[in-house]
Amino acid sequence: MALRPILLHPDPRLKAAAKPVTAVTDDLRRLASDMLETMYDAPGIGLAAPQVGVPLRVVVMDCAKGEDPPRPLVLLNPRVAWASEERKPCEEGCLSIPEHYAEVTRPAEVEVEWTDLDGQAHRERFDGLWAVCAQHEIDHLDGRLFIDHLGPIKRQMITRKMEKLKRDRAREGFGQRGWHEAPL
Ligand code: ZN
Repeated sequence: MALRPILLHPDPRLKAAAKPVTAVTDDLRRLASDMLETMYDAPGIGLAAPQVGVPLRVVVMDCAKGEDPPRPLVLLNPRVAWASEERKPCEEGCLSIPEHYAEVTRPAEVEVEWTDLDGQAHRERFDGLWAVCAQHEIDHLDGRLFIDHLGPIKRQMITRKMEKLKRDRAREGFGQRGWHEAPL
């Protein structure tokens, strides 16, 4: 297991649609376990493969909170199969857009279909934070960020601040490898 650097917006790799997973290989298992480790380390509740520069439809998430036992999920080729008519606003953030948060309104409940690492098909209804996270992460697989749900002025403001953050970090010597990468 290893931590992988998380790409920061703006980056063309975060805007590209990811390809379906067609086989569960050792590389894919390694990717999934690295993604979970990177997510927990950040710390975050969800991470999509394009955020670590891998253009595949792989998502990890764990929205368990408080006393709940951890529930690490690996979702291959996830898709929203059903969405409630009821929509709810929720403040969202993103590991690729650190320190920026904004309210996004999405369906309150969704049913998501995916395949797990054992090739088993799943369909599950999510609500609350799980529903928000699943939709946010599946968006990543289609090259969509939460700021794409905002108005253009807010989006451009965040993008400009992120461009500056990336310039500052490059100057401070964080380099191209990402700031989440820990020395091993
Ligand atoms: Zn995100």
